[in-house]
Amino acid sequence: MPQLRKDPVVGRWVIISTDRAKRPTPREHKRNSPRNGPCPFCEGNEGLTPPEIMAYRAAGSSRESPGWTLRVVPNKFPALMIEGELDRRGEGVYDLMNGVGAHEVVVETPNHETNMGALSEKQYEEILWAYRDRILDLRKDKRFRYVLIFKNQGSEAGATMEHTHSQLIALPIVPRTVTDELVGAQEYYKYKERCIYCDIVRQEIEERARVVSENENFAVICPFASRFPFETWILPKRHSSYFEHASKQEYVDLSRSLRETLIRLNGSLNDPPFNYIVHSMPFEETEDGHYHWHIEVMPKLTQVAGFEWGTGFYINPVTPEEAALSLREIAL
Ligand code: ZN
Ligand code: ZN
Repeated sequence: MPQLRKDPVVGRWVIISTDRAKRPTPREHKRNSPRNGPCPFCEGNEGLTPPEIMAYRAAGSSRESPGWTLRVVPNKFPALMIEGELDRRGEGVYDLMNGVGAHEVVVETPNHETNMGALSEKQYEEILWAYRDRILDLRKDKRFRYVLIFKNQGSEAGATMEHTHSQLIALPIVPRTVTDELVGAQEYYKYKERCIYCDIVRQEIEERARVVSENENFAVICPFASRFPFETWILPKRHSSYFEHASKQEYVDLSRSLRETLIRLNGSLNDPPFNYIVHSMPFEETEDGHYHWHIEVMPKLTQVAGFEWGTGFYINPVTPEEAALSLREIAL
């Protein structure tokens, strides 16, 4: 059983999970690698994954068999275990609990695509609906306080399987990064009675220098204080705290924004490895908390080194204004 342990000084949680060491080394899972055999995410190989949690499939096709367009399965090497109680406890100065959580994989296409940029708008829509469906299901489990949705593309960004997929981890604690944003947004609201993210969207659209693209419901920007070169945020224009509360039209527009953003990054940076993360409100908060959900996309171009570890701040060699200009110029 994995464990969640809390650093007694700064309050940061870590997952101690030794099973993860057994997972495949990056890039070994080619379409049909001699060492690992066929890709378990390809259509026809359904038996090679743990039993499916859900799938979008053609009428008449059955579970664990071909005919699907998107499939969600448990991670074969989960960072957290779904069974069991949290058993929060203390050992002297230390706090810990059992590593209970859900760790799922969203297989985004039945075909062996290795770059998410190659998927159609329709496929992006399905991916977003799958995120929503899984969040709505997992929030019923009272042990969980947050569902983290993220994608690693490329081994440099942490992917161990090249077949395009994203992941979802339901956590019994709220991640520190989310708490920091929540606290910041609430401070701003207390002072100005406005949402900081709504203000950012308004100002960026007016100034344009850091805007990559926009449509009716979303603005894509390189943030003012980007930590990484070409860091890009996708923000809904309508204020809402929860990703899973978006409307049908918002998911349509978001799939367009996300797809275009990845195509622009591929064009500007020659198919870089990247991560994206959905930031949304923790379950126990209420909608009038002043959070504003969004997606952060981070190409992996620089290494986090001693200076960053030592200071907690980043040195970014590319201005967000230059990055936005370069991304805007990519023809779609
Ligand atoms: Zn595959
Ligand atoms: Zn807002």
